[in-house]
Amino acid sequence: MNPSPILVVGSFVQDLTFSTQRFPSPGETVVGQFFTGPGGKGSNQAVAARRAGADVTFVGAVGADAFAQSVREFYQEEGIHAALAEYRDASTGTAGILFDNSGQNEIVVALGANDFLSPHDIPDEFLAESEILVCQLECNLVAVKSVLERAGRNSVTRILNPAPLREELPLDLLQSTDILIPNETEFIGLLERLESSAPTEEELPHLSPDELGNLCRKLGPPTVLVTLGRHGVHLWSETHNKRIPAVEGVKVVDTTGAGDAFVGAFAAGMQRFPGDLPAAARFANRAAALSVTRQGTAPAMARLEEIES
Ligand code: ATP
Repeated sequence: MNPSPILVVGSFVQDLTFSTQRFPSPGETVVGQFFTGPGGKGSNQAVAARRAGADVTFVGAVGADAFAQSVREFYQEEGIHAALAEYRDASTGTAGILFDNSGQNEIVVALGANDFLSPHDIPDEFLAESEILVCQLECNLVAVKSVLERAGRNSVTRILNPAPLREELPLDLLQSTDILIPNETEFIGLLERLESSAPTEEELPHLSPDELGNLCRKLGPPTVLVTLGRHGVHLWSETHNKRIPAVEGVKVVDTTGAGDAFVGAFAAGMQRFPGDLPAAARFANRAAALSVTRQGTAPAMARLEEIES
């Protein structure tokens, strides 16, 4: 298999999604509807990048169960080169997703095989011909650390989406990251881990660019994009420190996977607009806005024609 310019290393998770009028209280049962589909932050980001026009390789791990069987076919249909390690003693990752009629979600994820992903599952050849590496924290962190460090030695641009923010996260991962893309919760969580004073989630979108830029600088990576939901994204780097607004007037159906849509499309946008980070962020905002108008994660990802129109 030939490596692609964008290499995504991360999780595949089968989404088990329930929609209800409202979230149940502890001990309560509510009636809802069910659907299932391919998900996982790594896989979703690979799909988002591919649909946004990029050539993508995805490296992940699955179990030897029914969920794993349909995955390979799915990547083939999407045109993604997939290198999936199979761990027979583990189950494929699964996520229980609940969303209510306002589009909010609550998620429990069981990592399963994703936690067995090993540095050996990501050969150096994949890095040698990749331009951009995209990682998250939803799989084995030793593998993530290894691939980020090796990518640095191969001059691959390393994007880290620090999601989900895990207790055991080694903070030195941030030193092996070129572009960090946290959402509000992850941004505040990282600042707290670094023992910096952090704003609340309510305060964050209302900070001035200088205030936000100063907080971004504390994290370490040379470029930081903080996604702010309907408020868009704050882009901070040596040459930029500004808010790039979200698409306005979007009819929200399901925000699950909006962050993944942004990260994947941003990687594709970096290739489409070389050296122009604001253009890549605008491209990603459009892709993410389209994704929140549809239910599901991977199936909701936008295609290039729609993003451009
Ligand atoms: P999730 O955890 O639900 O997958 P997230 O918290 O990681 O999402 P957000 O910051 O909520 O990610 O959203 C990512 C991007 O999606 C935003 O930067 C924006 O471009 C787009 N987006 C999210 N919500 C909206 C909205 N209501 N209208 C327009 N764009 C939106």
